[in-house]
Amino acid sequence: MIVPNIPDRRIGSLVEEPLLRSLPYNASEVFKGLVSCVGNDYCNLAVIETKSRALEVAQQLEQSLTGVKPITMHWSGCPAGCGNHLVADIGLLGKRAKVNGEVVEAVDVFVGGRTGPDPKPALKILEDVPCNKLASVLEGLVPYHTRAKLHKTGRGKAVSRPQVEVSQNS
Ligand code: SF4
Repeated sequence: MIVPNIPDRRIGSLVEEPLLRSLPYNASEVFKGLVSCVGNDYCNLAVIETKSRALEVAQQLEQSLTGVKPITMHWSGCPAGCGNHLVADIGLLGKRAKVNGEVVEAVDVFVGGRTGPDPKPALKILEDVPCNKLASVLEGLVPYHTRAKLHKTGRGKAVSRPQVEVSQNS
């Protein structure tokens, strides 16, 4: 949302508006790059809830991490991919997974997607991560996976992709 033509002298009162308190104009990098499909609130193809989970995970990352560089994190609630998870720095694809005999909402985690003149689909690096453990998994991933680090350097040298292990029993 863009609110144009605000004189400098009025910015102070504008940012006090309730709407801008719930939708901050100076959102953190985690929130600036956050995208989610509608999930099972409005789509009968969804296998997980996406929007509230996306917000919850982003809030946890915001609280636990400092100095996060610009990063995009996209959620899709099913393989149709309306959240464009394959073109994000971190893409999350909803699924159901069996953990300790129980079926739970989970995601596959992708990294390194991008659009633009040199588009590149993201690579899947983690499977069946339960949604309730995702924030702690991403806490280890996000600080090391900014856009700059995920792609080739200016000298054309490839940067290695992350290796992250997830325990489903802890
Ligand atoms: S990605 Fe799947 S769940 Fe999300 S809006 Fe598209 S069809 Fe629905």
